Amino acid sequence: MWSRPFVRARKPVGDCEQMRLSPTARIARSSHRHRNLHSLLVRAAVGFSKTSTVPKDLVTPKATPKVSQVQWTAPLKIVHYPDPRLRAINATISVFDESLLALAKDMIRVMYEDDGVGLAAPQVGVNVRLMVFNPYGRERPGKESILVNPEVVAVGGGRWTDQEGCLSFPGLQSPVERYRDVVVKAQDEKGQTVSLKLGGTDDAGMWLSRIFQHEYDHLQGILFHDRMRPAALAPIRPGLVELEERFAAAHPGVKIQRVGEPPAPAKASKGF
Ligand SMILES: [Zn+2]
Repeated sequence: MWSRPFVRARKPVGDCEQMRLSPTARIARSSHRHRNLHSLLVRAAVGFSKTSTVPKDLVTPKATPKVSQVQWTAPLKIVHYPDPRLRAINATISVFDESLLALAKDMIRVMYEDDGVGLAAPQVGVNVRLMVFNPYGRERPGKESILVNPEVVAVGGGRWTDQEGCLSFPGLQSPVERYRDVVVKAQDEKGQTVSLKLGGTDDAGMWLSRIFQHEYDHLQGILFHDRMRPAALAPIRPGLVELEERFAAAHPGVKIQRVGEPPAPAKASKGF
């Protein structure tokens, strides 16, 4: 997802808020190199709503394949819409090794190159359940978070709409509706379980929750324009069609899902 100016201007959250961390988060924080995420999470917990059942499209598929080795080739490059890898099934990661960490680090490099604040592995053509993000973007390096095999446990707080961009859709932005709050269970790059509450009533928490939901959608094969209301989709439709035509010309014979078309059943990507 793309960066936004107001996020860059935010001040870091103070360590005084550490006391409000849940025991799980406290353990995760003490062993985690990326402290900023947990600081924001604590802040997000202020005004956090009671949660409701997880909507079907946010439930991790039970039949997700598992990979014991994540295969990828450096240097990574962003995959643009409508590349079928953005719609393929993403595998659960069951090994936490140097290769996984190297992949996450290269994803962060690519994310910063394009001035992003979040990136999911299928966006670099690697169909596994991995995402990286830094709500402050490249202006605050070292504040990145890596989430492996994230699952949405609950959502709440109603919905709100804001402008989104996506690194796989160069030049296109439009409003998308998201849940305000989301409870997440995931693993870090070492395989440690982390529990996160993203959202709350302040801008930083809501922004972090939005970034997570955008990247999580990528792991579900859902793209941001899938969630747009007709009025939001209309202005970017010509841009989507242009990307489709460009891809079709460069990859004749490759089956793509065009805007407005019903999704084909997702298939496992070649390469794992
Ligand atoms: Zn995206």
